[in-house]
Amino acid sequence: MTPQDDMLPFAREAHVTCPDCKGKKKTVMYGCPGFRRMEGACLTCDGAGDLPEGRAKQLHDARQVREMRAGKIGIFQLAKRTGLLVSTVSEFERGRLGIVRHDEVRAKIMAVLESLP
Ligand SMILES: [Zn+2]
Repeated sequence: MTPQDDMLPFAREAHVTCPDCKGKKKTVMYGCPGFRRMEGACLTCDGAGDLPEGRAKQLHDARQVREMRAGKIGIFQLAKRTGLLVSTVSEFERGRLGIVRHDEVRAKIMAVLESLP
């Protein structure tokens, strides 16, 4: 076993700072009643302040797709062109699919997005 191999399991489980709360573990939301400013546990990292790298990558991919399709293609159209369910595309864009399914869905979505003019 080389030192690099030895590092792999650790690298896979490495955590990175949550991109949404920047490690503060809390998120500010404006909710009822009267749109008061409220603080709650960050929904992205479940209040942990950081998240596994794989999860961070999913969120990054999801954000990238939202940005790429903004003003170009709607979610219904995208679902139709990829042959995916609207709910699947929506879950993807919230980074909520399992990692295997995530990569599969991402490949389909990117193929369609890259073919757009
Ligand atoms: Zn967070």
